[in-house]
Amino acid sequence: MTTSTMTDRQPTSTTGAVRPELRALDGIYRARGLHWVGDGFRVAGFFSAIPDAVRKLSPFLLLDYRPTYEYAPTDKPRGVGVHPHRGFETVTIAWQGSVAHHDSSGGGGVIGPGDVQWMTAASGILHKEYHEKEYARRGGPFQMAQLWVNLPRAHKMSPPRYQGIVAEQIGVVTLPDDAGSVRVIAGEYLGVKGPAKTFTKVDVFDVRLEEQGKVHFAFPAHHNVGLLVMKGDVVINGTQATLHDFAVFENVGELVVIEAESEAQLLVLSGEPIDEPVVQHGPFVMNTAQEIDQAFTDLQRGKFGHLAD
Ligand code: MN
Repeated sequence: MTTSTMTDRQPTSTTGAVRPELRALDGIYRARGLHWVGDGFRVAGFFSAIPDAVRKLSPFLLLDYRPTYEYAPTDKPRGVGVHPHRGFETVTIAWQGSVAHHDSSGGGGVIGPGDVQWMTAASGILHKEYHEKEYARRGGPFQMAQLWVNLPRAHKMSPPRYQGIVAEQIGVVTLPDDAGSVRVIAGEYLGVKGPAKTFTKVDVFDVRLEEQGKVHFAFPAHHNVGLLVMKGDVVINGTQATLHDFAVFENVGELVVIEAESEAQLLVLSGEPIDEPVVQHGPFVMNTAQEIDQAFTDLQRGKFGHLAD
């Protein structure tokens, strides 16, 4: 039985080339509870629970996930006040609720269910992130994730950029056998390209599976891969995972096979590692301690621009 299941997991090669191998699982990790970011985002931080996360998951530096939560109506939108970033990108993915962003480079916008905000801080911005006014007034369910994506040394001091990606721009792959769907936010899956412009190779997939639905991904073995189970029970390369588990893979094999035992939703991340030193201090992610000092100096000197509270 086990053997036939394993055989079933290997897709047949159409070219006669070497079949991709199942990717080895490094481990399944859980966030250490929820913490507040400002007064608007009570999130589960996953990477702090993963030993050696920067190496295993580069170019991803952080994943904060806010599972569905009902916010009460308020006239004073919750959020995070003005703060800086330098040296990387923040990516906010909204499933429920609505969030507004403004930054000192003039970037800004509102993202709602299905939308993604891909904000490249690069050389430095000040920004604020808030529940959008109307949503805050109504209250209601909120479900979002924020990813931090590192930039290679060559782009850490590039000009900031803002990509407001609306749901309609995000290509959807409908899986065969009514298995579910894959929304391609960044990268490419089965010929569908994601709208996000990235500086290095990054795949960000929002995956929904029906009960008994199955999906295959093949990522180059040297790319790092991790995935978050946002809903349901799944089997990942033969290993059981459940709600709010984060699976990290080794750089052995290519194939990731996910089978849903109940209706499931997953955030699948993959990327080419950036093989450079990472020195992080709060909102700054650079290559050296000296560059971090420089970031503080530049911030004090107003080089990150200005943004009203
Ligand atoms: Mn921020």
